[in-house]
Order: sequence, then structure tokens, then C-alpha cells
Amino acid sequence: MRIDKMLSNLGYGSRKEVKLLLKNGVVQLNGNIVKDAKQHVNPEEDTVVINGEPVEYKEFIYLMMNKPPGVISATEDSQHETVIDILEMEDVVFSPFPVGRLDKDTEGLLLLTNDGQLSHRLLSPKKHVPKTYFAVIDREVTEGDIVSFKEGVMLDDGYETKPAHLKIIKSGLPSEIELTITEGKFHQVKRMFEAVGKNVIYLKRLSMGPLLLDESLQLGEYRELTDEELQLLV
Ligand code: URA
Repeated sequence: MRIDKMLSNLGYGSRKEVKLLLKNGVVQLNGNIVKDAKQHVNPEEDTVVINGEPVEYKEFIYLMMNKPPGVISATEDSQHETVIDILEMEDVVFSPFPVGRLDKDTEGLLLLTNDGQLSHRLLSPKKHVPKTYFAVIDREVTEGDIVSFKEGVMLDDGYETKPAHLKIIKSGLPSEIELTITEGKFHQVKRMFEAVGKNVIYLKRLSMGPLLLDESLQLGEYRELTDEELQLLV
């Protein structure tokens, strides 16, 4: 890979800005100053240092976001703000994309990565990766709903849902629940409650497989996964 491309990918600036860094003689490759933007580097083996600081090469980025409401989980949208729009430029250069979708009004755990294989594994219907949501429901959620969700309910398009685990956190009006599903049909949680005559008035994703939302992240905040979290996913 060309050194200007590698440094630009890592967030050291545009190709033009990186060329200037090189021209200024602050970049070293294996101990020698390098000025040629076309210089080839092997990111796995070569040592690159900028202003005395070693450059850490990484191909993939893994971000955990506490998705705020009002933002679309897509990479681009002509009308609305997307989850990519709220990332720092130094992360955007990796071209991350959201792993699956949360509705515009849904909050909570959203993983963003440029690792297509990991995304595929987490989203593949064959893997049955569990996702747990916290929701506020406009009507009383009952023991009968727990049984219905366990057995499967019929969505508005005739689809029968797979067994899901419903837990009542607070009964009453409104009710608070946690629901774990192993599928990812469009608006699934909202449509499951509609199937039992109730409406979701607030929805937040708490977990996806072994990955738990870091509750210290404020809405719209994000951070890289820790090595431990990543090990749980790969
Ligand atoms: N189910 C929904 O209805 N909406 C979401 O955003 C996620 C799951």
C-alpha cells in the first residue's frame, strides 16, 4: 500500500495533507525519513513514525454507539442525519457502516464497523443472534403475552415469529418490558406488540449477542470496542 493512502486511511488527513507531512520530513519509515508519497509500505511489517509517534495500523474499526433518536441507521440519506454523520472524521475514513438497523426513533446499542464478515455473521438469520430490547408499552403487558411471544405471534404480513423471551419489568400503564428476539424482521418488536393489540412507545436496544450497551455512553456518544468485547464477537 502507498504510504500516503495508509496514513490518510488512518485519519492523518487528506491525501494532500499527508503529502505535506511527508514533504516536511516528519514521517519515518523503518528509521529513515520518507518524503515520497508513492513509497510502498507493508502495514503489517514496516514501522512508520510521525513526529516521533509510532503509527498504529489497523484495517478494521469496531464502534459501539448509543444511537440517539431522530437519526437514521444508514450510511447516507438525502434528507435525514445518519449515524455516520455523527461520527468524527478520523473514524469516518475507515468507511464504517451500521450492523443492522434500528428505527429512526429507536435508541441504544448500534455496532458500526467496516468488517463485512463480522457484520454478516451477526446478521445471518442462520446464526440466531439474540437481541434484547427495553421497551415501554402503552397498555398492560400480561402473562398471556409472555406465553404468546414464547409460542410465536403472527405479524401483519402473516409471518410467524420464532420463540421470543418477554420479561415484565414493570406492569401497569404504561408497562416496561425486556424482549429478546433471535430474528431481525422489519420493525419486529413494534409489530410483535401490535400483534397482541399494544403499542411500543419507547424502544432501546440493550444487547446484540454477547455485546452489551455501555450505559455510560450518552445518547449519540460512541467508542471503540475493547479487546475483550471484540474477542466475544469473533
Ligand atoms: N424492532 C423494532 O420494531 N424497531 C427497531 O428499531 C428494532 C427492533
